[in-house]
Amino acid sequence: MKVHEHGTNLIQLTYYGFVNIYLVREEDGFTLVDTALESCASSIVQRAKQCGLPIKRILLTHAHTDHSGGLDAVHALVPEAEFVMPARDARFLTGDMSLDAGEPGNKLRGGWVIRKTSPMRLLHEGDRVGSLEVIATPGHTPGHCSFLDTRTGTLIAGDAFQTMGGVAVSGTFKPLFPLVYYATWHKGLALESARKLRALEPERMAVGHGRFLTEPLAAMDRAIAVAARTLERQTKKQVSVNRTEREYS
Ligand SMILES: [Zn+2]
Repeated sequence: MKVHEHGTNLIQLTYYGFVNIYLVREEDGFTLVDTALESCASSIVQRAKQCGLPIKRILLTHAHTDHSGGLDAVHALVPEAEFVMPARDARFLTGDMSLDAGEPGNKLRGGWVIRKTSPMRLLHEGDRVGSLEVIATPGHTPGHCSFLDTRTGTLIAGDAFQTMGGVAVSGTFKPLFPLVYYATWHKGLALESARKLRALEPERMAVGHGRFLTEPLAAMDRAIAVAARTLERQTKKQVSVNRTEREYS
């Protein structure tokens, strides 16, 4: 596990070289953002202790295994911590993989687990968890959320963006690190969410996979342009396939 401190409020823990989780410092203790895998739990709790603060809240960006896997094991070690997560993705952790009527019917992708720790609070757009503001960023998963530290302008984007293998919007194929691409549910929504995060003009960006970025706007713009072009090409291709099918049927 590698540790990087970004200013006084954010500690990044990286497991296996590619899974990031974050300890966000608040006056009463840490908010742990994402939990990596089950095997990481004791090291996460130990690291918080070494930093001199208890874990007060456990928060997930979304329900994929590499973010929620450590939840039960961390919670068993700090049972007094409040567990909160985005309402929509919380259902996946109970094993309910159904899509809502208003959602696109795209196939859910990526790794999923059932966890027994139930959220004490379900989060929606605009809610606060300590200093973090909840921003709904669906696309990677239906209920994916990102968090903006209102004290510093630091964005914790989860898998809405990746920086490993190059900065990219979730759903853009990056050959050096294709995991986020393969796990993305809906590319169109992911692009909309990326634009929404860009419009917040974050000062810094932390992601689930890859390095921390300071002054991320130019890199976000480039990633958004690539995602938009790719999506446009794919849509055109699909339209022409549909047309050909109609003409020959
Ligand atoms: Zn994910």
